[in-house]
Amino acid sequence: MPAQEKPDGTAGARSLCPSSRCKPGAELIGVRQDDGTVAILPQPLPVDQDFVDIVSQNALKPEQRFRFSNKCVEGGCSQWTGSRCGVVDQALTMLESVVAGLPECSIRPSCRWFQQSGKDACAVCPYIITHATEKDLIMPLSP
Ligand code: SF4
Repeated sequence: MPAQEKPDGTAGARSLCPSSRCKPGAELIGVRQDDGTVAILPQPLPVDQDFVDIVSQNALKPEQRFRFSNKCVEGGCSQWTGSRCGVVDQALTMLESVVAGLPECSIRPSCRWFQQSGKDACAVCPYIITHATEKDLIMPLSP
C-alpha cells in the first residue's frame, strides 16, 4: 500500500481535506441529496470565482449543500488535534457504519480521512456536512 494510503494518520505531502471551504482553487467533490446525505462525485470539479459567486447567492451556505476538497493545512485548521484530523474521528464516534462498500471517490489516495481511518472513514463520509447545524448532525441518525 502506498504511503499516502496508509491508514495510520501520518501526513502525506499531498494530503487533501475532504471537507474544505468553498473558494477558488478548491474542488467540488460532493453534492448533498434530499435525504441529507452527500453523494461523492467520482470525479472532482474545479471551483472558480464564478462558481463561488453563483452558489453564494443561495440562502444556504455552499458548505451546507456541497463538499469541497483542498490541501490539508494540518495545524492551520482548528480541527487538527496535533497529529490528525478530528472531524472524522468525531464522526466515527457518533455514526454507525452506514454505507456498505466504498463510494467511488477520486481523491481517496490523498484523502486525509482515508489515510487516518481507511474504509471506516468512507463509511461515514457521506453523512458529514462541512457547515453543519445541530439539525444536520441529527438528521442522518433518524430512521
Ligand atoms: S473519506 Fe473516503 S469517500 Fe470520503 S472523501 Fe475521503 S476517500 Fe473519499
